[in-house]
Amino acid sequence: MFDIYNDFKEKERIVKLVSLISEELRDRNRKIKIMEICGGHTHSIMKYGLNKMLKDSVDFIHGPGCPVCIMPIARIDIAIYLSRLENVILATYGDMMRVPGSKSSLIKERGNGSDVRMIYSPIDIIKLAKDNENKKIIFYAIGFETTTPMTAALIEQAEIEGIKNIYFYINHVLVPPPIEAILDSCDSEIDGFIGPGHVSVITGTEIYKNIADKYKKPVVISGFEPFDMLMSILMIAKQINGGFSKIEIGYKRAVEEKGNKKAQDLIDKYFEVRDNFEWRGLGYIPKSALRLKDKFKHIDAENLFDGYISKNLNNNNQYNNKIIENEICKCGEILKGKLKPNECPLFNKLCTPENPVGACMVSQEGACAAYYKYYN
Ligand code: SF4
Repeated sequence: MFDIYNDFKEKERIVKLVSLISEELRDRNRKIKIMEICGGHTHSIMKYGLNKMLKDSVDFIHGPGCPVCIMPIARIDIAIYLSRLENVILATYGDMMRVPGSKSSLIKERGNGSDVRMIYSPIDIIKLAKDNENKKIIFYAIGFETTTPMTAALIEQAEIEGIKNIYFYINHVLVPPPIEAILDSCDSEIDGFIGPGHVSVITGTEIYKNIADKYKKPVVISGFEPFDMLMSILMIAKQINGGFSKIEIGYKRAVEEKGNKKAQDLIDKYFEVRDNFEWRGLGYIPKSALRLKDKFKHIDAENLFDGYISKNLNNNNQYNNKIIENEICKCGEILKGKLKPNECPLFNKLCTPENPVGACMVSQEGACAAYYKYYN
């Protein structure tokens, strides 16, 4: 009897699932193209060799679900600007510190004397703020729907404790809008999507309604173990063969249709959807990110320390000075699913995790980092 809580890596079951998928797709005249939205799934595919096991039937397209990779240079430059302000400690996650902006990175700024701190969890900032009462702590908050509740919990905790020296530079983004933007691009050939399980733990499944109903693409929410992913791929294959598209949960031990209401309420208490947000490689996507509600302007770093920020934004919330991305780095194309990391000329030559040229090699969830670690 299969134990759904433990038997995720058992070889026998993996082999069985691979043969069921191959059988399901046997009569198709081309491989099906499945986009795994999340960088964590890309790492699972490469780590367990799912791409090799299914090389004749499935082409994996790596999606834009890595929050560090999709951060545009303009917003990294703002973080660098904030880190240089007097009396400020800028706190963020380790990966974000190494991603290059247009001229510098946060780690370089730290070397130049800015006080930039790495945190493991937003709640670490409470202690940082208490230990540095005479300084302004700016949290450079990033991440998808998975991490937004943690930022909201930090705001709430700071309110409860009456801590007044924490500010927020919010870069929380949403999963569905970039997927719809990719599907709107006329050359998209994606047949189905593997949805990130940890996102749906928070949001539930309804967020993908448009993708299944309007774009007619199957979406299966998946966990990260090989068994989970293969099961989700089989469910997608069955939908494609059956000629229908719906949202299914392939990760029932963690995901419920309605998600986590408490976390959703916490997000709604502090955040609202932005009109526009720039994504690396995908450009500006309407309603694809969050901002603090007006009620919380007093802790919004974008609103507060606005010498640089407001001067550089136009009425559409877009930056006046277009920052040109490094053209040799193909992160943008990879995030759109147009290229695979090993198709970048710099991959594993000039660009490695020790000397990353682009964000997709810096981040632990980046597709280039996954290929570097597991591709051969
Ligand atoms: S290998 Fe490096 S340079 Fe090439 S796309 Fe990836 S991050 Fe950019």
